[in-house]
Amino acid sequence: MIDPFGRVVSYLRVSVTDRCDLRCVYCMGEDMHFLPKAEVLSLEELERLCAAFVRAGVRKLRLTGGEPLVRRNIMSLIDNLGQLVKDGRLDELTLTTNATQLAKYADGLAAAGVRRINISLDSLNPERFQAITRWGRLDQVIEGIMAAKAAGLAVKINTVALKEGNEDEHDHLVEWCGEHGFDLTFIETMPMGEIHADRTEQYLPLTLVRQRLEHRWTLTDIDYRTGGPATYVRVEETGRRIGFITPMTHNFCESCNRVRVTCTGTLYMCLGQNDAADLRTPLRASESDHLLDAAITEAIGRKPKGHDFIIDRAAHPAVGRHMSVTGG
Ligand code: SAM
Repeated sequence: MIDPFGRVVSYLRVSVTDRCDLRCVYCMGEDMHFLPKAEVLSLEELERLCAAFVRAGVRKLRLTGGEPLVRRNIMSLIDNLGQLVKDGRLDELTLTTNATQLAKYADGLAAAGVRRINISLDSLNPERFQAITRWGRLDQVIEGIMAAKAAGLAVKINTVALKEGNEDEHDHLVEWCGEHGFDLTFIETMPMGEIHADRTEQYLPLTLVRQRLEHRWTLTDIDYRTGGPATYVRVEETGRRIGFITPMTHNFCESCNRVRVTCTGTLYMCLGQNDAADLRTPLRASESDHLLDAAITEAIGRKPKGHDFIIDRAAHPAVGRHMSVTGG
């Protein structure tokens, strides 16, 4: 799949549910309304959708949400998609998770063919973790992370940089990840979805985060890429990598290779734009895939050049939908 700007689209992120067992303050409001079941694609439909993208040239698939591991029977989908990796039709199957359910699933994921996993963790302090997630338990998450490590999965920790939220912990996170052999990626908060809070009070530019880290750590720029939007440095003291995802301070759209589909089968060609394509109608209209394949081709033909997020105290969020809808 090649978009109008000559970019090859080879990476699909699939939100398998809009539901989550946490309510991170920058991600969701407290009183979220989740989708009725009839609107959500079945696991079989999600698999058919993924297969259509793989036929069209996708080589990397990431399952996300909401929280992918709270979807009932999710392992049946992961096992079937893992088969595509084992057959060589897909280079990588991975997922982004909050790790609350990982102690239960880590071994199964490794057996299914998952090699790497991204885990969201914004604080190593139990009280603070609970405050950020509104009710999460850090010990449960740490248990999940260690289960993933024990299962042989390569772990990357994703931390949203939060002004006055976790900025005093960044050195500790680098140290902790170094001790456990995890890479770490910092993410800037993006203005997505109404959260009934002022985002200018949460936003911390990663240029500043990096400057502060350099007081304690020796950071060397490296060429490493994972197919995602992060740029990486090596921490000389620990030997591990730190990634920076900077949708606000540096727009990385020129190298964008990905599209996202929600659990209702809505395809977003850009995380930061509202244009979308309905894939559920062609999927459900026919048992053959020709309508679906045509809808995907048509949608890729209007992938926009990029996004333009602005965090503004007075304004509405740049895009109305929450990250939990499109999938992080
Ligand atoms: N439940 C899974 C998890 O916690 O990783 C997957 C979904 S979650 C929406 C994916 C990632 O998006 C998380 O790392 C989360 O911190 C991040 N995220 C959510 N809302 C965000 C926002 N407004 N700006 C930046 N990152 C956000």
